[in-house]
Amino acid sequence: MSDFIKDGLARNFLAGQWVEGDAGAVIAIEDPGNEEHVADCAQAGEASLTQALEAARASFERGDLADMQPSARGRLMIGIAAEIRGIAGEGAQLLCRESGKTLEAAHDEFEEAAQYFEYYGGVADKIEGKSIPLGPDYADYTVLEPFGVSAQIVPWNFPVSIAARSLAPSMAAGNSIIIKSPELDPIGLALLGTALQRADVPAGAVSILNGVGSDLGARLVASSEVDQIVFTGSVPTGQAILRSAADTVTPSLMELGGKSAAVVFDDADLKTFLTSLQSGIFYNAGQVCSAMARVLVHRSIYDQAVERAAELSNGLSVDHGLNNPEHTPVISALQLSRIEEITSTARQDGARIAAGGARLERKGYFMAPTILADVDPASRVAQQEIFGPVTCFSPFETEAEAIAMANGTEFGLVAGIFTRDLARAHRVARKLRAGQVFVNEWFAGGISTPFGGVGKSGFGREKGLEALYNYVRTKNIAISLKG
Ligand code: NAD
Repeated sequence: MSDFIKDGLARNFLAGQWVEGDAGAVIAIEDPGNEEHVADCAQAGEASLTQALEAARASFERGDLADMQPSARGRLMIGIAAEIRGIAGEGAQLLCRESGKTLEAAHDEFEEAAQYFEYYGGVADKIEGKSIPLGPDYADYTVLEPFGVSAQIVPWNFPVSIAARSLAPSMAAGNSIIIKSPELDPIGLALLGTALQRADVPAGAVSILNGVGSDLGARLVASSEVDQIVFTGSVPTGQAILRSAADTVTPSLMELGGKSAAVVFDDADLKTFLTSLQSGIFYNAGQVCSAMARVLVHRSIYDQAVERAAELSNGLSVDHGLNNPEHTPVISALQLSRIEEITSTARQDGARIAAGGARLERKGYFMAPTILADVDPASRVAQQEIFGPVTCFSPFETEAEAIAMANGTEFGLVAGIFTRDLARAHRVARKLRAGQVFVNEWFAGGISTPFGGVGKSGFGREKGLEALYNYVRTKNIAISLKG
C-alpha cells in the first residue's frame, strides 16, 4: 500500500507531501457494488487550499516546469507514465471498489492516463510559435506561454483518466496545476500523487486536493490566484463556475454533458451496431458523457433493431466490478434513484420499456440495462442527460429527419452514424451538431483525436495536439528594426 493512505485514511497530495488537510471532516467512500465502506478520505480545508495555491504560484514563478528544458520536461512526463503503470495494479483495485466499474475498466483508466503522459511528453518540445512577415523593417514572432496556475475540477465517472487528460497537456505547456478530485471516488485519483512523487515532479507544481465541490471546488475556482479553470462535469456546475469566473475574468475550459445520438440507416450492419450499442450505453453503466443516449433507427429496420437491442440488454452478465461482468452498478444510491425517476416518467410520456426499466433487486446500486422504445424525441427522457444504462430508441423516415432529430437537443458532444454508404456517412457527419462523429464504431478514436462539445456540451477541446492550445496563450513580440 502506498504512503498516500494511512490508517485507512486517504490523504491529500499537497506540494509534494501527503497531508491530512485541515477541513476537520472526512468523506466516507462507499463501494456501490456491495454498499460496503471502502475508506475515508481526508478533506482539504481553507489552509490547505491557500498552501496549495501559494506552492503552485511559487513553483510557476521559479519556472520549475515552464523554464525546464522542453525536452527534459518531456522526459519527466514519460517518467510519470512509467510510474503510473507501476501503481496501476493497486490503483485499479481501489478505483474499482470506490466507483463500481469493472477491474478491467479501472486498469484501463490507469493505462490511458499513462498514455496521455507519453503522448504529451512527446510534444513538450514541439509547442511552437510563428514568425509573422511585416516587411524588412520588423521582426515579429509569437510565443505560446503557459497560463500560470491551472485549477482542474474532475468528475467521478473516469476520475483517473480524465484528470490525466487535462493534467498532461497542461504540464507539457509548463503550467502549475491544482486538481480537485471528485468526492464520490477520490482515492484512485489521489494515488496519482504517488506516481508524480516517484517521478520527481517539482514540489508545488501539482497538488491533488480532496473535498466537496460546492465547498472546496467553488473556493478553488473563485480564487484570484487561479489563472485558468479546466472543468469537466455537469452543465449546472459548469454554469455556476462560469458565473464565478466572470467575476475574476478567468479563462475557462468547459467539458460538459451530452445526449448523443446514433443514427442507424437501413443499410447498416446490425451486428456492428449492436456491438457499439453495448459499449456505447452499457460501458461503465452508461455513466459516460459521450454515451449512446439516443438511437435513431430507419423505420424499415426499427422493430428488428429494438428487439435485438432488448435481447442483448437482457443477456448481459451482472456482478460486482471485481468480477469483470458486462454490467456494473451506478455510482451511488442517489444516482440510482435519479435514473429510475426519469425512466419512469418516460412511460408516462408514451415510451415503451423494451428491456429493463427499474433497479435490480440485489445488494448494490444496480439499474437494469434499459432500452426505451418509441420515445418521443421532444420528451424529457429524450432531452435530458440520464447518465446511466438507459437509451432511447425512436424511428425516422428520411435522412433530413434523422439529422434534425439528432441535432434536436441543447447538447452536442458526439454523434454516430451506422451505414455502409460512405458518401452518406461523410455528408451526414458534416451536418451533425457535435464535436466528434463516429462512423460504424461508437468510441472510435483515442487519446490523439480531439474531443469536446458544442452547445451546452461546452467549449474547448481535450485530447490530441489540439488540446495543447487550451493550456497556452499567445504572446506576440513585434520588433522594429528601423533604428
Ligand atoms: P458534477 O458537475 O456534479 O461534478 C463535477 C466536479 O465538479 C466534481 O469534482 C464536483 O465536486 C465539482 N463541483 C461541484 N460543484 C462545484 C462548484 N460549485 N464549484 C466547483 N466545483 C464543483 O458532475 P459529475 O456528476 O461529477 O459528473 C457527471 C457529469 O460530467 C455529466 O454531466 C457528464 O456528462 C459530465 N462529463 C463530461 C465529460 C466531458 O469530457 N465532456 C467527461 C465526463 C463527465
